[in-house]
Amino acid sequence: MDTCSSASKYSDEVENSKNKRKVECMYCNSTILKSHSAQYTNQQYALPLMRQKNATSPEEAETEELDEFWEVDDMFTFENIGVSHTVKNTKFLVCADCETGPVGYHNITSKKSYVALSRVKHV
Ligand SMILES: [Zn+2]
Repeated sequence: MDTCSSASKYSDEVENSKNKRKVECMYCNSTILKSHSAQYTNQQYALPLMRQKNATSPEEAETEELDEFWEVDDMFTFENIGVSHTVKNTKFLVCADCETGPVGYHNITSKKSYVALSRVKHV
């Protein structure tokens, strides 16, 4: 088993497994999470693309495999967050101000939320 830790391009953003800096919307600078409020987690998830070209319904959305997320146990941890559509047991998270997204997803069963590091800005 190769345990070589492939250096994440976001390794500078993680401090004691938490987000070192504030998390903001890439487009309107709305604050999504305060610093040190979310847990870094590595998991595979196919998140729908922010801009859809051909999809006619959420079920047919084109997705992108992402593997780095900020895990948030409680929706109240967010400074600002919006939800768009629901697919099965998942709600997709969007910016509360400009509705850009999805920036992550919320699992209705576990009540945990995940914000993709590559879909937000760290400031
Ligand atoms: Zn925004």
